[in-house]
Amino acid sequence: MAVGNLKDVTPEARAKGIEESKKRWESEKAVLISGLTRKIKKYLEGIPTNHQKLWLQVYSGKLHKSAAIKAKCLDCACYNKSEITNCAVETCPLWHVRPYRK
Ligand code: SF4
Repeated sequence: MAVGNLKDVTPEARAKGIEESKKRWESEKAVLISGLTRKIKKYLEGIPTNHQKLWLQVYSGKLHKSAAIKAKCLDCACYNKSEITNCAVETCPLWHVRPYRK
């Protein structure tokens, strides 16, 4: 598929693309959630909605280990990226590989 210039995309086409992407994700999300245990489903309910996609993909095993580290650090830092950037817990095994470092 050829990739055109993004400036040539009409607002309607962009909105349609976003809508289709949302539908694809909702469909994929339903499949991923159906494969989770009740315990994990309950845990997901406590994760901010804007981070649930990352967690679902991590739980599915579809992402690289770095995504699991990112999810763990976000969880640890209450989803505050600057807390991860400024994390002072040098004894944590993830400290040297944490995301959002300076
Ligand atoms: S590196 Fe810091 S933010 Fe990440 S899990 Fe360890 S203590 Fe938490």
